[in-house]
Amino acid sequence: MSATGRRPSRVARDVPNERLRRPRRVGVLALQGDFREHLAALRACEVEGVPIRLATDLDAVDALILPGGESTTMAHLMEPALKQSIQQRAAAGMPVMGTCAGMILMAREIQDGRPDQEPLKLMDIGVRRNAYGRQIDSFETEVESAAIGGAGPAVFIRAPQLIDRAADVEELARHGDQAVALKQGNRLALAFHPELTPDRRWHQYFLSLDGETR
Ligand code: GLN
Repeated sequence: MSATGRRPSRVARDVPNERLRRPRRVGVLALQGDFREHLAALRACEVEGVPIRLATDLDAVDALILPGGESTTMAHLMEPALKQSIQQRAAAGMPVMGTCAGMILMAREIQDGRPDQEPLKLMDIGVRRNAYGRQIDSFETEVESAAIGGAGPAVFIRAPQLIDRAADVEELARHGDQAVALKQGNRLALAFHPELTPDRRWHQYFLSLDGETR
């Protein structure tokens, strides 16, 4: 801001609007799982990533990623205050992306979860854990989506499947007969792991979603 309180026109001209709206700092839940890969992906997108372990860590970020890993372990390790802050911030409009176990954490309903596994209910979806059969419980493939402008690599590791979704949950990508990328407002759930490939387009897409302060 200049002394007159107006944004200097040079900045407005040189920086595309998209860029001004991007989150400045993105939290990555860092209790278990592949949070380091998400932090590296954010670095590659030239955005600061912040590991999130406690409720207070969330104050420093304006978007959040829930990584792949083991959803039962992450749910168990999350302190109640952190769960509550995530739910409050998401309700206030903070963009959230969950990948694989992160998608499970975001769901409203979990099938084949542990009885004590309480989901965060950030998206109106129901999921079944470990829903791919034994033969193909881990595989790499390509999925196509207009969100990333074409086909991209997708790693599935004991991935969940969607069993239910509300009418306003959009399907962004399919693999076979399964919806594997879902969007509701500025919340994004991917059954696969974009963080385990060098392709950064899913992270870029997430960073382009509007947030509460932008
Ligand atoms: N099956 C795992 C779970 O239930 C998810 C696997 C993953 O994130 N790759 O949490």
